[in-house]
Amino acid sequence: LAKKVGKNTFRFYSTEMNKKLLRKILLEKKLKQAHTQNELTLHYQPIVDVQTGTTVAAEALLRWHSPELGTVSPEEFIQVAEGNGFINELGLWVLSSAMSFAKQHSDLEVSINASSLQFNNEQLFLEIKRLFRAGELSNNNLCIEITERLLLEETERVKKMLHEIRDLGVDISIDDFGTGYSSLSYLKRCPVNKLKIDKSFITDTPHDNECNTLVRAIIMMSHALGIEVIAEGVETQEQWEFLKAEGCDLAQGYYFSKAIDSEQFNAYLNLNKSVGSIHIRRKNY
Ligand code: C2E
Ligand code: MG
Ligand code: MG
Ligand code: MG
Repeated sequence: LAKKVGKNTFRFYSTEMNKKLLRKILLEKKLKQAHTQNELTLHYQPIVDVQTGTTVAAEALLRWHSPELGTVSPEEFIQVAEGNGFINELGLWVLSSAMSFAKQHSDLEVSINASSLQFNNEQLFLEIKRLFRAGELSNNNLCIEITERLLLEETERVKKMLHEIRDLGVDISIDDFGTGYSSLSYLKRCPVNKLKIDKSFITDTPHDNECNTLVRAIIMMSHALGIEVIAEGVETQEQWEFLKAEGCDLAQGYYFSKAIDSEQFNAYLNLNKSVGSIHIRRKNY
């Protein structure tokens, strides 16, 4: 094949592959160090009630700023952590940090992202149960965001874990809904009570009628199943107005705020406390 494609083409591909591999090896090495050296932090993105604009929840999002590598995106380093199993330890740290944040904001629900690999073992599951027993977690202040990938496999073992977590009062949300291998039947069978419409569907609302129709249909279907809907990636006032008219429950996006550290989060809350309704105030961080 290499001959057919030509020498130069082959060399081009192999250089690209080497680069990717080297980058992966580098990140793998640095990521564990980064964790012990406290280079990993959690930022929080406000989630607002669509009708009022009041912040009711926050999503914890990992950030890595490395002195040598600069800012590395979570899309990239989560994949690395999933590749070598470090995701388990990292995921437990995310849970505990997010819970400290939740303690300071008892009126907010805090969401964490869980990799589907974290359901291959019981670490996360047991830790959530332990936190409840220890009184570290109360009802209705934690939401676990899972992906369609996890529900695709839908083993009895996973379903049982999700049911037990839900029974504790923890919300379970499907992240990036519509982008994975959606099989709508799992919405009925799995104890999911929230759904996040992927930002790729929100981007072109309200100007693209097909997107509008899809978003409208997802909201109607979810509500019929008793599932609360969150719109991701809301960037404009027009999108917000559209979601409001369609009866979407919650929204999240740069229009309200990007993910910010916990100090900035407090400032955001104070700034918007009395404002409500349509006048969201942003800060330039
Ligand atoms: P996600 O869970 O779907 O998170 C939403 C992503 O959309 C975040 O990217 C957020 O910063 C970005 N976003 C929010 N509002 C807007 C908007 O209005 N416009 C646009 N264009 N983007 C917006 P981020 O922080 O880069 O995270 C990327 C992904 O990395 C997350 O997607 C999640 O899958 C993963 N991730 C982040 N933190 C964790 C974690 O603690 N654990 C795991 N397992 N995955 C994580
Ligand atoms: Mg998420
Ligand atoms: Mg998402
Ligand atoms: Mg996403």
